[in-house]
Amino acid sequence: MYSEIQTYALQGLKAIPVRAEIDISSGMPMVSMVGSLGSEVRESRERVWAALRNVGLEVPASHITINLSPAELHKDGAAYDLPIAVGLLQALEYFPPEAAEGMLFLGELGLSGEIKPVRGTLPILRDAAARGIRECIVPAQNAAEGSVVPEMKVRGAEDILQVLHFLQGAGEEAIPAQAPPKEDDVASTRHQGIPDFSEVRGQQIAKRAALISAAGFHSLLMTGPPGAGKSMLAKRMPGILPPLGTDEALEVTSIYSVAGKLSPGESLIRERRFQAPHHSVSRAALIGGGRDARPGAITLAHRSVLFLDELPEFSRDSIDALREPLEEHRIRIDRAAYSAEYPADFLLVCAMNPCPCGYYPDRNRCKCTEPQLARYLGKVSGPILDRIDLCVELKAVELSEITSKAPSSGETSAQMREKVIAARQIQSDRYRGTPYRFNAELPSTAIERYCALGDAESAYLQTIYEKLGMSARSYHRTLRVARTIADLEGSDLITSAHLIEAVSYRPDRSYWR
Ligand SMILES: [Zn+2]
Repeated sequence: MYSEIQTYALQGLKAIPVRAEIDISSGMPMVSMVGSLGSEVRESRERVWAALRNVGLEVPASHITINLSPAELHKDGAAYDLPIAVGLLQALEYFPPEAAEGMLFLGELGLSGEIKPVRGTLPILRDAAARGIRECIVPAQNAAEGSVVPEMKVRGAEDILQVLHFLQGAGEEAIPAQAPPKEDDVASTRHQGIPDFSEVRGQQIAKRAALISAAGFHSLLMTGPPGAGKSMLAKRMPGILPPLGTDEALEVTSIYSVAGKLSPGESLIRERRFQAPHHSVSRAALIGGGRDARPGAITLAHRSVLFLDELPEFSRDSIDALREPLEEHRIRIDRAAYSAEYPADFLLVCAMNPCPCGYYPDRNRCKCTEPQLARYLGKVSGPILDRIDLCVELKAVELSEITSKAPSSGETSAQMREKVIAARQIQSDRYRGTPYRFNAELPSTAIERYCALGDAESAYLQTIYEKLGMSARSYHRTLRVARTIADLEGSDLITSAHLIEAVSYRPDRSYWR
């Protein structure tokens, strides 16, 4: 007796079709599993047999071979439990073979027969739909994310008996198809839970830097004493980025699906996210990897904001690991058992105190020694400081100013977002047909073309360049930022005023000399 059930493997975000083939013969009673299998897949046998026994479905002692094909593809995770169980029941003729034909199965089994959620349902169903598969049975908790895939009938099952009844012909009554998500009123649901910039009092310069950062995709570093509002500002940045487009939303939701980070019943993620890994974060948690190749914080921040608070406290290893994603907008993870590639195109926002105690240059409060200061700042050099386009210093604010109940006159996130969207439109028109999307991405070779200056402006920048002893890198950075400032004003020309402002955001040379 033989059966073949359609299921899937994941490699990073990539979904790869797998067939679970079951052969039952009358030889010596034994169960063998074939293929390149991780330990969780090998344990599948115990879970499946126990689950079937506990709902009263005995598998008779016989010679059973389970092959997950293609054999050479490394497989991990528990999502093969359900396809293996369904294959066994089919081979044992609990239901006719045509019942499961053309269907896809995913799910982990608990010992009592319940079906537990799995990772990666969305990317798997998107790939399956593209290959012409039209119906699937997935864990009930993953049905909502699956239902965003058009042309796929998604059935969310709670337990193995439900699946058996469905395959025995009970149909809709056993497992109804999940309704596709309602077209949300995006305007009203967007930015729920993202705090608003209008609540931030004072710190006008930092708010302005946040606007420029979002508009041109410039990475931002905020320095300032504890309590100045650095995290408060960073947390509000997803709210001024344009809403996710449909493709972006599918991409981001797929990432959260593979990471196992969608809440039960969550369908499509429509909001930009905010990822703030702690400085003690492990390399695997930051960039991805680990035993089961999960995406890290930088990938969870894809098309969103990655916030590194207390930047100098991050290990050298963590900072170095950011080099590749900052350069390539993706990360490749190679391990003995697998290799995976994840997108990692995030807006980098960092914050730090100006010194270990936090109060430099207020020498009444700061007792840090010069070597302490130098060591602290020295941690933020090289790969990361080179990638910071905007640096802004926050001054301590009076507590009363932050907590004041008086209505704030500051701009709302919605108003700021409108400006960001307009500036981004200008960039996407300008860079159509080029590899660039944002001003921040302009390489030095393209700066002359896209950030051209008039004679007076050129002479002016030359003067500042010499006076401040700017590096070539700093010079280019200034031009990129000035381009964004001009775009925010809808100005084709970069004026001296734009240059003056751009220069004011360069990382302070007195800190990092
Ligand atoms: Zn200090």
